[in-house]
Amino acid sequence: MSFSATTKKRLTEILPGRRCCRRALLYGMLQGGRGFSLREMALQTEHTEVSALYTALLEQLCEVATETEKGAFTIVSVPSADREAVLAVFGHTGGELSVRLNRGNFHCDDCAAAYMRGLFLSCGAVSNPETDYHLEFNVPSMPLSRDVLSLWEELGYDAKSIRRKGDNVVYFKDSNVIEECLTLMGASASALELIQIKMVKDIRNRSNRAANCDMANWTKVAAAGEQHRRALSIIRRHGGFATLPETLQELAQVRWDNPDVSLRELGEMLDPPLTRSGVNHRLQRICAIAAELEK
Ligand SMILES: [Zn+2]
Repeated sequence: MSFSATTKKRLTEILPGRRCCRRALLYGMLQGGRGFSLREMALQTEHTEVSALYTALLEQLCEVATETEKGAFTIVSVPSADREAVLAVFGHTGGELSVRLNRGNFHCDDCAAAYMRGLFLSCGAVSNPETDYHLEFNVPSMPLSRDVLSLWEELGYDAKSIRRKGDNVVYFKDSNVIEECLTLMGASASALELIQIKMVKDIRNRSNRAANCDMANWTKVAAAGEQHRRALSIIRRHGGFATLPETLQELAQVRWDNPDVSLRELGEMLDPPLTRSGVNHRLQRICAIAAELEK
């Protein structure tokens, strides 16, 4: 089951305690559905839990029996004779130019969150945090999407909106915000899952970065080793390390014997030991001597 489907299933499992919040939940489901007008009032979903909740809430709160059509998607619709009554329950007439959010349906502090939960159930989706951080509402109309945007703002979250192929999408991209929105809507288990996935991803990224860094260092060490080996073999062909100034002789031999170690390690092998920059300086002198010999 996808992360989105699991989240929706979780959101249908616990009903708000207060009647006002249950109404707000249904209001969100209705407004996010395929229609909320005299002409059409239906919900199209691939989740049986969501269609069952829509049916149950309409029955409980509006005393309306729905019709269900099953196919690739389940379509639950309110019969045309009952649509006006349902609209009236939420303070709409069906004669409005565009469907807007009627704040008169929010009675307690939790009603707005319940509305968002309903809206998410009917027109929302959330990406699997393994691949992307994205939570969206595909709101049926532009004016309503603006209302949803400002309601999120009032709840303390800056959502973004975009028109995508005629759809009005209100969305979040920030993983921390998505986490909080999931919690606010009542899907704290999904929020927790997101946090865990994020932590694992962070650790993985960090160790990848560390591995890349090790690789880069190793390449540098290997390249330097190769350069020194070439210089030292030139010196060996021209009389050997004994022809070098005394201060360079021991280092030349130690380097020749240890082509793969770092400059710091080389320094520690000398007697007396030498710092990394001291080693570097002397090896440069050796390379310069070899370059002269080659001419
Ligand atoms: Zn309430």
